[in-house]
Amino acid sequence: MKITIDDKTFEPFIEYSMIEKRIRLIGIQMNVDYEDKVPVFIGVLNGAFMFMADLMKEIHIGCETTFVKLASYHGGTKSSGMLTEEFPLSMDIKGRDVVIIEDIVDTGRTLKFLLDKIKSLEPASVKVATLLLKPEALEYQFDEIEFIGFEIANDFVVGYGLDYKNLGRNLQDIYRLCGQQLPG
Ligand code: 5GP
Repeated sequence: MKITIDDKTFEPFIEYSMIEKRIRLIGIQMNVDYEDKVPVFIGVLNGAFMFMADLMKEIHIGCETTFVKLASYHGGTKSSGMLTEEFPLSMDIKGRDVVIIEDIVDTGRTLKFLLDKIKSLEPASVKVATLLLKPEALEYQFDEIEFIGFEIANDFVVGYGLDYKNLGRNLQDIYRLCGQQLPG
C-alpha cells in the first residue's frame, strides 16, 4: 500500500522479512570473519540504528558497539553536500578491528569522510557493512565495503531507519519515492 509522508508519496519496496533474511546472512558471515577477534561495530546515526540493532542480535562473538553521528542531508531528498560531525567517536580504536555500520551509501561522500577519520585513528582493520548501496550514485571506489544488504537503483527511499524530513524512520519496511516527483 502506498503511503504519504509530508508532501510525498512512497510505494512499498523492500519488506522487513527480506531485510531480516539478508541480515541473518550478513551476521553469519561476520561471525566467521571475526571469529578470533573482538571487533568494534560503529553505527552511523541516525539512519543505521535499526540495522545496527537487528544485526547485533545476529552476532554471537565478543564485540563492542558504539555510534557516531554525521549529517550530510538536511531533511530533504537531496544531499546538501555538507558534512558535519555532530557526535564524534568516543572510543579508542587504535589496533582494533572496526566495522562501520551504515544505513545507505549513496554518493559515498559520507563514508569517505568517515573512513578518513577512522583510518587516522590507526585501527588494525576497517570494513564497512551497509544495508543499502546505490552503485550508480557512487563517486568513489571503496575496497572496505565488505557486507552489503541490497544494491538498489538511484531512488530515494525511506523506512527502517531512513527518513524523509525526519519522518518515516520508524517504518518496518523500506519504501521508495513514487514516479517522477520532484525532490524537495
Ligand atoms: P552519501 O554521502 O553516500 O551521498 O549519503 C549518505 C547519507 O545520505 C546516508 O547516510 C543517508 O542519511 C542519506 N541518504 C542517501 N540516500 C538516501 C535515501 O535514498 N533516502 C534517505 N532517507 N536518506 C538517504
